[in-house]
Amino acid sequence: MSKGCLFVISGPSGTGKGTVCKELLANKDNNLFLSVSSTTREKRVGEVDGETYNYVTPEEFKRMIGHGEMLEYAVYSGNYYGTPKKTVEKMLAEGRNVILEIEPQGALKVKGIFPDAVLIFIIPPSMAALKQRLVDRNRETEDQIEKRLAAAKWEMEQAAKYNRIVVNDDLDACVCEIEEILRDNAKKRERVDNLLHEKY
Ligand code: 5GP
Repeated sequence: MSKGCLFVISGPSGTGKGTVCKELLANKDNNLFLSVSSTTREKRVGEVDGETYNYVTPEEFKRMIGHGEMLEYAVYSGNYYGTPKKTVEKMLAEGRNVILEIEPQGALKVKGIFPDAVLIFIIPPSMAALKQRLVDRNRETEDQIEKRLAAAKWEMEQAAKYNRIVVNDDLDACVCEIEEILRDNAKKRERVDNLLHEKY
């Protein structure tokens, strides 16, 4: 069985990457598995422990780092976020395509470990639209929104290091474009695999 592909989706807070990932997962043809990260941030209303994130204490998070259990981790807005190594490796070995929805510091670390990972950066149509989305979803305080907008600037400066940049102006169009990237990647891998098995 061939190994699955690793896809990383990043984008500033409020670009709608969570919704995009949900849509990608809902289409079973994509054969995707979404990795559940661990975080030290507070659980928000509507979030489910073990589904949205695994919520852990800073002590537990540091223990996991110390035991080499994290594929990558980063501090974002004062909280730790990290990807569990074991699950990702297991899913890839089982031939599943894995999606990590993580911020750029972590994404770039992943690219260093898995050079064939496909890094996709989702950008908003405008900064004004991004701010409006953050305000409308009413999840963060004004101060937290300012922090997230400041982080967005640095994050967008990293976009050029990604394999693909996709604008989320229209959800369906954005999901279609990413699905095209997934299919294109699978086709290219198949071609290379076939060449490797060809007699000459
Ligand atoms: P939020 O608090 O809005 O759920 O997430 C804040 C940021 O952390 C988002 O950009 C999200 O993609 C990122 N993030 C979530 N999980 C991980 C992770 O495991 N590693 C890294 N590096 N970033 C993560």
